[in-house]
Amino acid sequence: MSYDLVVIGTGPGGYVCAIRAAQLGLKTAVVEKRATHGGTCLNVGCIPSKALLHASEAFEEANKHFGELGIDVGTPKLDLTKMQAFKQGGVDGNTKGVEFLLKKNKVDSYHGRGRIAGAGRVEVISDDGGNQMLETKSIVIATGSDVTRLPGVEIDEKTVVSSTGALELAQVPKKLVVIGAGVIGLELGSVWRRLGAEVTVIEYLDRVLPGMDGEVGKQFQRILAKQGMTFKLSTKVTGVAVADKGATVTVEPAQGGEAETIEADVVLVAIGRVPYTEGLGLETVGVATDEKGRVQTDSHYATNVTGIYAIGDVIAGPMLAHKAEDEGVALAEILAGQSGHVNYGVIPNVVYTFPEVASVGKTEEELKKDGIAYKTGKFPFTANGRAKANGTTDGFVKILADTETDRVLGVHIVGADAGNLIAEVAVAMEFAASAEDIARTCHAHPTLTEAVKEAALAVDKRAIHV
Ligand SMILES: Cc1cc2nc3c(=O)[nH]c(=O)nc-3n(C[C@H](O)[C@H](O)[C@H](O)COP(=O)(O)OP(=O)(O)OC[C@H]3O[C@@H](n4cnc5c(N)ncnc54)[C@H](O)[C@@H]3O)c2cc1C
Repeated sequence: MSYDLVVIGTGPGGYVCAIRAAQLGLKTAVVEKRATHGGTCLNVGCIPSKALLHASEAFEEANKHFGELGIDVGTPKLDLTKMQAFKQGGVDGNTKGVEFLLKKNKVDSYHGRGRIAGAGRVEVISDDGGNQMLETKSIVIATGSDVTRLPGVEIDEKTVVSSTGALELAQVPKKLVVIGAGVIGLELGSVWRRLGAEVTVIEYLDRVLPGMDGEVGKQFQRILAKQGMTFKLSTKVTGVAVADKGATVTVEPAQGGEAETIEADVVLVAIGRVPYTEGLGLETVGVATDEKGRVQTDSHYATNVTGIYAIGDVIAGPMLAHKAEDEGVALAEILAGQSGHVNYGVIPNVVYTFPEVASVGKTEEELKKDGIAYKTGKFPFTANGRAKANGTTDGFVKILADTETDRVLGVHIVGADAGNLIAEVAVAMEFAASAEDIARTCHAHPTLTEAVKEAALAVDKRAIHV
């Protein structure tokens, strides 16, 4: 078979790239080694984790907060098998949706491992050993990422699990130790804490959510601690010993010092993700990777080998589904002769706990490091009418704007529905809005969005409700 474009991997980067390319008239095929489309995100990432976050949040609401609303449902009982089936329903619905969309757009699907056999040639090796050669003008590597392993700690996906195993637990662990206080560790830690686990989070750095705004991290940690999560920061894990039942985690201060042990029924290793290029044949064709194993590309996603491109988690940049999707669209448009583009300055980042955390643009730490003078406007949800009415007053909105021009440089939110609230500021930033622009925009009352408007007013020290 001969194509204009063959995309290897059908995660959010690959399948979106293929659909956009087909829309633009390119004869396109995808190769996927997994039985279902959608990649990490739909199968073992964003979608199943959000389904469990949703279900466990409802459980905790019924357990702890319904009474305050005057609703007496007694003590709710957990049926974890049913909750896992609910999660799987969400996954199946989404992966089938991608299959439908690929067919609808006349993208050919090949199931098997894709290997770049040479310029313009992709070999598809199926599970039964059969193989097929596809000829193509262009190849897109969209093979995503895999979990980062902790040296000396074997992941058996039962007692010591990665995020994939943590989404599949058949029983609520009595004690869960989470190694890593990043997004995935805190989201999955929240799921199991809500369902009854005692959760201890161990982090090498002195803060949670590394890379996000420092003030946000501090406040968020306080909120999670209030909910019952235990944190051991500036602490390194030196070993995990698995026994018949559970495991013993040995830790010591990051800077060195006395070791201690923590018992756990399950240990979740959530220390990040690494680009995945195994068996792809990069060495054969000479595609260059960097020191972190990421495929190197130029600003048009081209690798050093003519006709081979790469997008998503496998290249540099934040490992986020929407970043991969936007790169997929941009690359398809470039290949079709258009001017595809991604604005890396405006990529929202969301933590889907309760409350949520959302940010876009620069953090205070980054602005200080870059020597950019900025003004801060902050508004707490305790002063927002809707948050008060709903009883969801944890958190704040913080807007950072250029001192001289008032242009919005970064927005950081901790609060209920922060992941949706961040969208308006992302649009505003795409249009190079000033804080004044947001402050003068009429926001519906009573909504949580009014906190965004008030934070924009606060940049100019004229918030109304504080
Ligand atoms: C638990 C968890 C929760 C997450 N939650 C979020 C979230 O809420 N929001 C968010 O934005 N991001 C989230 N992410 C990150 C998100 O999943 C990734 O950023 C996203 O999936 C990257 O998309 P991708 O297309 O680059 O790669 P992937 O989704 O990893 O897809 C790559 C695909 O390529 C296939 N493949 C690899 N090699 C080959 C080969 N040689 N031949 C054929 N096929 C191959 C793989 O099987 C896979 O299907 C989460 C991740 C995890 C693990």
